[in-house]
Amino acid sequence: MFAKRNATTFALLIMFIVLAISPCLAASRNIILMIGDGMGPDVVKAAGAYKFGSEYHAFGGQSYLAMERVKKHLYVTTFSVEGSYDPGWNGGNKEYPKRRPTDSAAAATALATGVKTFDGAIGVDFQKNPLVNIMEIAQEKGLKTGVVTTVPFCHATPAAFGAHVDSRGRYTAIAGQMLFESKLDVIMGGGHPEAFRKGREYTYLSQDDWVLLKSGSTPYKLAESREDFKALIGEAKHTKVFGLFKGEFLKYRLSDGSEVSPDQPALAEMVQGALSVLEQKKGFVLLVEGGAIDFANHANNLNQSIGETLGFDEAVATVLEWIGKHGGWQENLLIITADHDTGYMHDVKPGPAGTLPVVSWGTDGKWFSHTNRLVDLYCQGSGSKIVEKLAREISDFERGKVKVLDNTDIFKMMFEALKASKPSADAGAYSLRRAA
Ligand SMILES: [Zn+2]
Repeated sequence: MFAKRNATTFALLIMFIVLAISPCLAASRNIILMIGDGMGPDVVKAAGAYKFGSEYHAFGGQSYLAMERVKKHLYVTTFSVEGSYDPGWNGGNKEYPKRRPTDSAAAATALATGVKTFDGAIGVDFQKNPLVNIMEIAQEKGLKTGVVTTVPFCHATPAAFGAHVDSRGRYTAIAGQMLFESKLDVIMGGGHPEAFRKGREYTYLSQDDWVLLKSGSTPYKLAESREDFKALIGEAKHTKVFGLFKGEFLKYRLSDGSEVSPDQPALAEMVQGALSVLEQKKGFVLLVEGGAIDFANHANNLNQSIGETLGFDEAVATVLEWIGKHGGWQENLLIITADHDTGYMHDVKPGPAGTLPVVSWGTDGKWFSHTNRLVDLYCQGSGSKIVEKLAREISDFERGKVKVLDNTDIFKMMFEALKASKPSADAGAYSLRRAA
């Protein structure tokens, strides 16, 4: 009798202990990095002004965009190896930010590898040596990895997370590396060869690689239609997916969400599918890019800039919801930033909600309209504490007293979070230079 009761008590005790520690055992460390290409702080502000009017927090109201619901807000310097950043803006010279801004390739390489390089470089240093990127480090630890973008899948930002070439324009070489060497589990973006006019079909993916992808001769399952993308959403999928929507880019969104193509997936839908494919016990690293915010700002097109930014923000809302259902901030690290500012948008003045705000542009769309201004960083979750260590306080000519990180610090944040996911491995021993 006693023995039986003791045995029952013991079994219950074991069950209690297992239940108590199981969240730790089940813990995965997912890292989701979301980049609004060319999404400077005033670009975000204009999107908020459109959505909420004077109810937006920047104008004294109480409404926030999804990305602004993320706990920590700091700023980031974005310059390339050829540049620098003077918080005093050279004694108050408003033309200063136009000098030597980074391009998307150097910025993406800094985010992906922690190393500053030259404009145009994809995953290589200033001497053109290949650099280890965060996806390769994650893969060695058993994590899944993926990239999702609204622009061609081998454009600069996703390319730096899956390829190593000395020029961002070598699209087919980048695509080949992403397809056959990157080991990425998810690649989603534009560049479908059937969506181009004759003669340009194989701008991004070579004809040979397209034939292999289409015929199922690569490790990837191909998703093309919006239905294909939607079918990925749901239960965890144990497969690799190459999502190539029909178009060079997702059709531009306007501020009211119109002008999108019903045949293409929304960024938020692609992200949902990617999360389903990547979900696993050991975790994953996912890069999401709102790539066309940059294009709209290059053209000083406010309506499209706001539409693309709100589309990106919908993807952020999707990620926040997913995190809430998948371990919360204990198991997930979310980092949202921009690779640089484009268009020099400033002096945003709101009208009523649902109307375009009045803004000024600092560029005319005719020159290389990136700038060197600070961009936002929003982050929260497991491993985000390190931002306090990496950040330094500056007195910025435009933003006042703010905490800033460098874009290379974002790699360090992800690197630290990965180290935390597998304490037995010495991540610090990594050489940041790949064996050529
Ligand atoms: Zn960019």
